[in-house]
Amino acid sequence: MSFVADPSLSALWQRVAERMRSLDESGLRRTLRPPAGIDLSSNDYLGLAHDPRITSALIAAVAREGVGSTGSRLLRGERDAFTALEQRFARFKGTERALYFSSGYLANLAVMTTFAEADDIIVSDERNHASLIDGIRLSPARREIVAHNDVAAARRALSAGAGEAGEARRAGDAGGAGARFLVVESLFSMDGDEAPLAAYAEICAATGAHLIVDEAHAVGIYGARGTGLIEEHGIADRVFLSINTAGKALGVSGAFVAGPGWAIDYLIQRARPFVFSTAPPPAMAAAVEASLDVIETEPQRRAQLRATAQALRARLQTAGVPVGAGTSQIVPIFIGDNDAAVAVAEAMQADGFDVRAVRPPSVPPGTARLRISINVNLTGEMIDRFVPALVSALVNAGADL
Ligand code: PMP
Repeated sequence: MSFVADPSLSALWQRVAERMRSLDESGLRRTLRPPAGIDLSSNDYLGLAHDPRITSALIAAVAREGVGSTGSRLLRGERDAFTALEQRFARFKGTERALYFSSGYLANLAVMTTFAEADDIIVSDERNHASLIDGIRLSPARREIVAHNDVAAARRALSAGAGEAGEARRAGDAGGAGARFLVVESLFSMDGDEAPLAAYAEICAATGAHLIVDEAHAVGIYGARGTGLIEEHGIADRVFLSINTAGKALGVSGAFVAGPGWAIDYLIQRARPFVFSTAPPPAMAAAVEASLDVIETEPQRRAQLRATAQALRARLQTAGVPVGAGTSQIVPIFIGDNDAAVAVAEAMQADGFDVRAVRPPSVPPGTARLRISINVNLTGEMIDRFVPALVSALVNAGADL
């Protein structure tokens, strides 16, 4: 009996069917849905994904350089345009070097799997993004998951390994046994709140730990120059590495790891997601350069974004909507139940607002929510229509506002 002709005879098919049933029963079945309606869910915070200066830079570069890079960076995929872009990003970020990856997911896997070895400790915030979690799981280092934004817990976890590392340093152990890393997002992607970066920088300096900061949702938006929350908190000299995605506020694709030259050199040698993956299309370099031009010359975009975020947050709070903490452009609206979160999102979609529900495992069980993200194309008139529509969708779903 062919397994293709009758898949239900396959034990694997039956197991998958059972898993899918359980996703259905717990309100966790996902569907793919293209953009429709007013954008309240993308990460295109600065409205750059359709900026004609960036799209035309990309088109011109594709015409010049073709589409595919044809190989990994260490083979025929290398281009001068990547090196120039990396130098530009390093200057922008204020670091010695930077390395461009084809996605933030791969950049995070690279960072988490390249530096930490078996005797090391990685301390990680419990709300860190899946790409950080996956990288940490692939690493041989011991991992300590600490409560969200809990500075005291992070200090305890880092101090636990400090003695051994000190011994290793005194013994002149070039293997660096006992290195410690603290890994956080600067702006958490599903909660929209900031990490206490200044306190983390201080405890890392005190314990000799290495601070790794994922600036996915902050780069392009925070800091006087728009380089992120590391800049805003003035802690650049106490951060080991940062990860900066180009697919969110920058409106393009890919991600930079930024940091000291010796660490970037080592990534080029050893980071498997860099070594064993085809280089991004060369034209992406021109698009990201054009995006950085806009970010460097149009600070008013980030000012406008933050003003719109404040205005929307204030309106929602006045209306009694349970909005998450913080002041950022990511505004979680907590619902709790998975099916209820989807029902509210669907009601909003029917009203012409592209709002998405976020459920476990993207967020902890019992904390399903709408993840509203704000972008500079949202007008006051759109917000005037959005707030009452949301209130009525929440009330219809049984929320007690
Ligand atoms: N880090 C964080 C905090 C993210 O939110 C994301 C994307 N959702 C990533 C990394 C991965 O970046 P990319 O989408 O470029 O793979």
